[in-house]
Amino acid sequence: MSYLDSSAVPMPSSTPLSEPFWSGLEAGELRLQVCDNCETWRYPPTSPNCSGCLSTAVRWEKASGRGRLWSWTVIHHSYSDAFETPYLVALVELEEGPVMVSTIIGTVPTDLHCDMALELIVVNTHQGESIPMFQAVIGSQSEI
Ligand SMILES: [Zn+2]
Repeated sequence: MSYLDSSAVPMPSSTPLSEPFWSGLEAGELRLQVCDNCETWRYPPTSPNCSGCLSTAVRWEKASGRGRLWSWTVIHHSYSDAFETPYLVALVELEEGPVMVSTIIGTVPTDLHCDMALELIVVNTHQGESIPMFQAVIGSQSEI
């Protein structure tokens, strides 16, 4: 279990629509919405309607937590005193399809490459939040 001091970092807040996502992370798993009508996996849960078919019938499912690195950038200029630079922002294409904005820990940026296999790691803050981050899958050759 990893810990992060988030006292200075602005944290996302749970809403009734996103509560299952955050409670899933507290339980150590990635939960995403799935449309009951067209089976589209959805992230983020920003709308009560499916973006594919507009259905309001959604359920929450446990996602695999596996994905591939789609793209990344290293931020060197601080836009907020809350973030210590440099830091990495990554786009992770989840195995289920959605692309998630996150970061990668345990790897230096020079070792990153597109399509590298990643897996979810839930980082708990000292303030009690559970944050989704990703780490490289050890021993994989970009296969998931
Ligand atoms: Zn749908």
